[in-house]
Amino acid sequence: MNTTMKKSTVSSIDNSASPFVQLKNINLTDCQWTNGFWAEKFKTCEDIMVPYMGEVLCGDIGHALNNFKIAAGEKEGEHKGMFWHDGDFYKFIEAKIYVYAQNKDIKILEEIDHYIRIIAKAQEADGYLQTQIQLRPEVDRYENRKYHEMYNTGHLLITACVHFRVTEQRTFLDIAIKHADLLHTIFMPETKHYGRFGFNQTQIMGLVELYRTTEDKKYLALAERFINNRGVYAVEHNDTTIGYPIGDMVQERTPLRESTEAVGHAVLALYFYAGAADVAAETGEEALIKALDRLWENVTQKKMYLTGAVGQAHYGASTNLDMIEEGFINEYMMPNMTAYNETCANICNAMFSYRMLGLHGASKYADIMELVLYNSALSGISIEGNSYFYANPLRMLNNTRDYDAHENVTETPNREPYLSCFCCPPNLVRTIAQVSGWTYSIAKNGIALNLFGSSVLKTTLTDGSSLVIHQDTEYPWKGLVKLTIEECKDTAFDILVRIPSWATGATLTINGTKTDAPVTAGKYAIINKNWKKGDLLVLDMPMDVQIIEGHPRIEEVRNQIAVKRGPIVYCIESPDLPKHTSILDVYFNKNASLEATHKPDFLGGITTLQGELLIRKDKSESMYRTVQKPEFESYKTQLVPYFAWSNRGQAEMTVFMPVVWE
Ligand SMILES: [Zn+2]
Repeated sequence: MNTTMKKSTVSSIDNSASPFVQLKNINLTDCQWTNGFWAEKFKTCEDIMVPYMGEVLCGDIGHALNNFKIAAGEKEGEHKGMFWHDGDFYKFIEAKIYVYAQNKDIKILEEIDHYIRIIAKAQEADGYLQTQIQLRPEVDRYENRKYHEMYNTGHLLITACVHFRVTEQRTFLDIAIKHADLLHTIFMPETKHYGRFGFNQTQIMGLVELYRTTEDKKYLALAERFINNRGVYAVEHNDTTIGYPIGDMVQERTPLRESTEAVGHAVLALYFYAGAADVAAETGEEALIKALDRLWENVTQKKMYLTGAVGQAHYGASTNLDMIEEGFINEYMMPNMTAYNETCANICNAMFSYRMLGLHGASKYADIMELVLYNSALSGISIEGNSYFYANPLRMLNNTRDYDAHENVTETPNREPYLSCFCCPPNLVRTIAQVSGWTYSIAKNGIALNLFGSSVLKTTLTDGSSLVIHQDTEYPWKGLVKLTIEECKDTAFDILVRIPSWATGATLTINGTKTDAPVTAGKYAIINKNWKKGDLLVLDMPMDVQIIEGHPRIEEVRNQIAVKRGPIVYCIESPDLPKHTSILDVYFNKNASLEATHKPDFLGGITTLQGELLIRKDKSESMYRTVQKPEFESYKTQLVPYFAWSNRGQAEMTVFMPVVWE
């Protein structure tokens, strides 16, 4: 292992030296939460989410560490868990590293060292490391892509890179290098046999990160090989593909550079696009970037829910009529009750957008990151931090589905303390643990504010000058954000302030005077000046309740509305309705006003919307019937943030409600 290491920034995606990036990532610890929404989430992450997940995964229920121990010869037994369980364990370690990076608790580092020692022992002499195969003597390496070797590899490489950046220890990185070198010998030669290999192609992101860490171009070339291979082989089952649908399901019907529509499994698609965006950040290839632009627009403008969630169906078909699972179906086909919206897919939507933010520097990408974070990501975990949703539908109706029908039912009516398919929980927890790193980006000559949350930023601009900014806000409940410059260089530089697309009418003042810079919803306001210590920049966003309707092509929400305030999507949940009221009988009265009321002791501290809804009284069980004027009764109640639903026992819930306009 003589690979030289470049001085790296400590971020999960190190684009500090990437030549084709407009906005570069700050170091993981450059921005630290001080108080408020994200500080509290991080605290829950540190105190509950990560320790609880450790107990589960390192014990017999989760069995993830056991798998490595057995492969290492330190324990008797057999592999348990999904084929991608190793990858999910790496994601948990990644979350732990982010927490360590912030709190420097030596105990966390010791635990990570303990895992790494076992993982190293489980690794075979030539670098191979996949417990799901190593503990199944009847299965060969790279025999069938359903065994998820590429997924596990991707998370191994990413976690090892992050571990090296945070700790400067090579223990994990050396495992990753040895593993990636083996991968290179097998997959770099262009062979028909392995041309279509790889199911969930997380390895592309992992290889780019390893390239960024080691500066060894062969990893970047291999990442590109995986992109180039996709979509150029005949789509037919062979012995490496049996076990899951083929074609659009795994984005192999069309070469990525020619793709115009997001297809297939939503997590597979978005990890693939995110990996391609990482490659594009290094190569600047126009055809690749144009394709990613088209795909991003397609996802966010034609196939995304109001909550930022994606992957409309558990089982379905692509536009080409390929069978798909857990993924994208037709444009504007947006069922609420059966929406799949895997927590991972929603997070991947934010991860893809974060990379596109880097490539283009446009605030619309940060809008999606924010939308996902506050809604369809956080909905995946309970307020307490120890139970999880896999699917995140926009409407829940009790007693309409058999959740125990078979082992592949990942939808649940309540959050569960453990999911046998455990991809989502560590994905969400590692995201919550690192979101402070997404808050700012380094611009060409300055800094970009992407997300709002009370924090202290201590960072270094591209010219090496230091910058310290205090951010004070009660966001997302209040729209006032104050930035105080504590330290900066004495020449002019830019501060880019994201004006969210919903924040029409936002104002920006500097030391009490309205700025000349254009303040436009959906864009960064760019203020260039000679900043000095004590300068106060105030962004004031109107937090009006917004009534949202869908595009008329979305049949499922015609004449229905949803309620949004700032970045938060609201819902009505049965604990806030009279007993035995079906969620289907709840209508929205356009003439009733909703009033924001902050409740610090309710559901972890949230702002509810108080007002009157209508409950329909004339009911019928018949499928169709003649209707006269419906009868309604007014009911005084509250809406709660969508992410906070299902924390008060099993409930019915809906985001969209039919509207009565007068
Ligand atoms: Zn998942």
